[in-house]
Amino acid sequence: MREYTTQMDAARKGIVTPEIKAVAEKEHMTSEALMKLVAEGKVAICANKNHTCLNPEGVGSMLRTKINVNLGVSRDCKDYDIEMQKVMSAVNMGAEAIMDLSSHGDTQPFRRKLTSECPAMIGTVPVYDSVIHYQRDLATLTARDFVDVIRMHAEDGVDFVTLHCGITRKTIEQIKKHKRKMNIVSRGGSLVFAWMSMTGEENPFYEYYDEILDICEEYDVTISLGDACRPGCLADASDVCQIEELVRLGELTKRAWAHNVQVMVEGPGHVPLDQVAANMKIQQSICMGAPFYVLGPIVTDIAPGYDHITSAIGGAVAAMSGAAFLCYVTPAEHLALPNVDDVKQGIIASKIAAHAADIAKGVPGARDIDDKMAEARQKLDWEAQYACALDPEHAKAIRDSRSPEEDHSDTCSMCGKFCAVRSMNKALAGEYIDIL
Ligand code: SF4
Repeated sequence: MREYTTQMDAARKGIVTPEIKAVAEKEHMTSEALMKLVAEGKVAICANKNHTCLNPEGVGSMLRTKINVNLGVSRDCKDYDIEMQKVMSAVNMGAEAIMDLSSHGDTQPFRRKLTSECPAMIGTVPVYDSVIHYQRDLATLTARDFVDVIRMHAEDGVDFVTLHCGITRKTIEQIKKHKRKMNIVSRGGSLVFAWMSMTGEENPFYEYYDEILDICEEYDVTISLGDACRPGCLADASDVCQIEELVRLGELTKRAWAHNVQVMVEGPGHVPLDQVAANMKIQQSICMGAPFYVLGPIVTDIAPGYDHITSAIGGAVAAMSGAAFLCYVTPAEHLALPNVDDVKQGIIASKIAAHAADIAKGVPGARDIDDKMAEARQKLDWEAQYACALDPEHAKAIRDSRSPEEDHSDTCSMCGKFCAVRSMNKALAGEYIDIL
């Protein structure tokens, strides 16, 4: 029987949990320093007590930026084996979290497989699962049904749940009055909005928030406060609907912390590049430094097929400006469920964004690998370069497919004998430089 409920409760009591100790070591900080941040809510260690194979990670703006990979079956792609393949390849490529967004069939066996075999943090969106679990139309579900699904996910070992608690009946009027270009583009947010519209009742995740907090405290589930009104296009960014919801998310953060429940706050969305940093600052101020979890942000609306790039640009600026957690975006965003290759492209793009931000933020040790790469490049040591690369196989495959000629095989075919590195190494060593 442990002497604390959640990681936040332990930190406030001065107890160094195994998770706090492990995360402190990974982040090159003392357990005491980390405990203070967890106690204040500035770092969340998402660690359900039933997720026993978890390799814990901390999420906070002063720590390494973490990335999440969304997976799960849908009516159009229902192969759980392929999803499990994606999970394992995502973990091998360095994803710290997997969100299971399954919305077809019996979702529980896959969710339990994740929390018994996957060492990454596991997140879910219980409102997606509610319709599937009960096999009833949305309008027939009750507030009790939604709360019971949250409990089921908590018992299954899910580390964090996205809950769209921030929209209320007032939001219905706001959305109608404000006439956004893209209305609500959050899947969970649109379901809650639709349920409120059809039943005439208040948002159950808002109305029964205290009961939900009790469940989250019991299992140590972190609440990821969903942003139902995140902008779905540049024109809707930073508008009154988004900011009004954010203010409510700030209030809900405070209430969760009073229950020792850890919180992350989800963020935009589609945002012009010049508004990204400002959005991070506003969130940090309204939500008192709670970790910010951003989807993208996507910085232009015109690149379907390449949204892993539009989001990596926004993600790098967001993480450099205070976001703690990046939700990956794949080339299939806005078009289709991602396949195995899309997942890989999305992870690499997010890892680049997160790493670039960590260097800019001065996270201890973040640049070490870049310095190693520079040394390997200066020596034209290709094996050492692959060892530093985010995707060694891809780098090697490109070089091998276009090798330089034998008499300058230490270079690459980009400049061949004109290789600046080779010329400088030879010049500084006093050697003859053959160019022809
Ligand atoms: S050939 Fe050009 S691109 Fe290739 S290693 Fe030398 S300087 Fe770099």
